[in-house]
Amino acid sequence: MSKHPSPFAVDERGYFGKFGGAYIPEMLYPNVEELRENYESIISSEAFQTQFTQLLKDYVGRPTPLYLASRLSEKYGATIYLKREDLCHTGAHKVNNTIGQILLAKALGKKRIIAETGAGQHGVATATVCALMGMECTVYMGKLDTERQRPNVERMKILGAEVRPALSGSQTLKDATNEALRHWISHPVDTHYIIGSVVGPHPYPDMVARFQSVISDEIRWQLREKENRENPDMVIACVGGGSNAAGAYYHFLDEPSVELVAVEAAGLGIHSGKSAATTALGTEGILHGSRTLLMQTKDGQVIEPHSISAGLDYPGIGPFHAHLFDTGRASFTGVTDEEAMQAGVLVSRLEGIIPAIESAHALAALESADIKGKTVVVNLSGRGDKDLETYIRWGKY
Ligand SMILES: *Cc1c(COP(=O)(O)O)cnc(C)c1O
Repeated sequence: MSKHPSPFAVDERGYFGKFGGAYIPEMLYPNVEELRENYESIISSEAFQTQFTQLLKDYVGRPTPLYLASRLSEKYGATIYLKREDLCHTGAHKVNNTIGQILLAKALGKKRIIAETGAGQHGVATATVCALMGMECTVYMGKLDTERQRPNVERMKILGAEVRPALSGSQTLKDATNEALRHWISHPVDTHYIIGSVVGPHPYPDMVARFQSVISDEIRWQLREKENRENPDMVIACVGGGSNAAGAYYHFLDEPSVELVAVEAAGLGIHSGKSAATTALGTEGILHGSRTLLMQTKDGQVIEPHSISAGLDYPGIGPFHAHLFDTGRASFTGVTDEEAMQAGVLVSRLEGIIPAIESAHALAALESADIKGKTVVVNLSGRGDKDLETYIRWGKY
């Protein structure tokens, strides 16, 4: 988890190439500045590293297996490994980041945690670590989302968190984010804001990528054990904001022999007006505090995204990925709702693993990527339990 000495690492000003920075209202400056000044020294300290590693091991269940998917490999004529983030406590990679951030919040002397959540996955991962650490937790969630994602709302409440429905705007994720930020502005001294992906103002994208980098750190030594090599030929991951992909790519960024494939949600089709294919459709602009690529109208209005998977239903990508796209270091591809659902069922049938629909997007890319004879790692970011309703509604199995 050391700082990455690479052209793909964040620079001193908080940029990845021309993307990133901290575009925030002046009122928020002290909060973000406190974090920026302290995060590197805290997370590289021995005390932090010891606790972080211990909790990832005993609480989250790391290392997660690197599983050779034999029947899937046979189907595609490649050696396909699945990195099993679906086996993490709470069912996805998100908890790697919330563990890191709550330890950071403690080190900064904070007493309260706030977070925003869309579908509720990040809210649950945050409520979980707050219970673990005995910290007060408030999760902002669009009112519409609280109705659509009732089980996750109840999970957060069981864990002791307060869920505050955001009543403004379209009552979804962006409104929840706005209300969380407003709360943070008025409680700067005792509150830490846990952001759930590699998005937001500097230092969040860098910080979250470093917490998630444990994924590629493990892939390297696991592949050495299994294949006597550290580098796969290709790593495939889905991108919502981009945190699971950032973690899966991190230690391969400076290994040009490793192809990095990023999979975005093409929804009903890239040009259907109902997608979240940011690199295909997006332009440069400011979203949630950083300069990045986002889907927007000519006059800068954010376009409502669509994806069948709640975790990919985001109108931008983090600056880390905007830079990988801009430099060509990663290749970006789109997978439709239908293709993702088919891949989800295929992997269920071939491997006995029901993936989260986000992760099914990464798996669907095996159809079109040039993988014959290659050693490929697909990051299985989460499990499908939360998506059962969507599988049932889709119905083709
Ligand atoms: C939230 C989520 C994602 C998308 O978020 P990233 O920050 O892009 O990783 C992907 N997969 C699962 C299972 C998720 O819960």
